[in-house]
Amino acid sequence: MSLLHVQNLGKSFGGVKAVDGISFTLAKGELLALIGPNGAGKSTTFNMVNGQLKADQGSITLDGTELVGKKPREIWRLGVGRTFQIAETFSSLTVVENVQMALLSHDAKLFAMWRRASDHKRDEALALLDQVGMKSQADRPCSVLAYGDVKRVELAIAMANDPKLLLMDEPTAGMAPKERNSLMALTKQLVIDRGMAVLFTEHSMDVVFAYADRMIVLARGRLIAEGKPLEIRDHPKVQEVYFGS
Ligand code: ADP
Ligand code: MG
Repeated sequence: MSLLHVQNLGKSFGGVKAVDGISFTLAKGELLALIGPNGAGKSTTFNMVNGQLKADQGSITLDGTELVGKKPREIWRLGVGRTFQIAETFSSLTVVENVQMALLSHDAKLFAMWRRASDHKRDEALALLDQVGMKSQADRPCSVLAYGDVKRVELAIAMANDPKLLLMDEPTAGMAPKERNSLMALTKQLVIDRGMAVLFTEHSMDVVFAYADRMIVLARGRLIAEGKPLEIRDHPKVQEVYFGS
């Protein structure tokens, strides 16, 4: 049975239908790629699933629970995770909490207290880092890590919530081909090991064809094709709208 059911989902901005009645499903253990040209409605779709945008029409259910109308925090608790860039990690804190964190990190005594308080989660954190191949670098500052390694840490952070569904908006943007493959291979491994599902957007067709189990293609808010990578590659509508030929 499918984990995620999206039915007739829609969202308009002013007069523009950014997402125009799309339907799809996603099963446990599946990596589903959402592709389409710029402005196709990919990010809008993501943001309706994670609750940052409220759908105008349609339904999104996770394990049978309706997500439309729920707050992002509730949806996160129900098991929809997303990767955040390390730079955005503190974006879930409030304005004053962010400044408090900064003050805390500059107060040696308080910082030592915080470190002790956080000790009991250290083993859990190390176990997560182990799963993404970053345990050996656990005590290095994030700022000195290679870009591909930062992405692995971002994955470990997303796993902390033990998501059923992980949303990744352009996870390999800015990466060299070798790093891309290594991140996607890791993602695929996590999907298998944890019985998770992943919905991701991706510009590199090489990555999509190599790692997606299935893909859906959006153009101007509409779902124009759906299938396995090999079925999509030769789809005439996709050739026309997406590859521009
Ligand atoms: P994609 O991620 O596929 O590039 P988006 O979902 O970001 O596409 O955008 C789909 C359409 O909705 C575009 O025409 C875009 O201009 C419009 N759009 C997206 N977000 C907003 C917004 N907050 N306000 C107005 N228009 C928006
Ligand atoms: Mg986008």
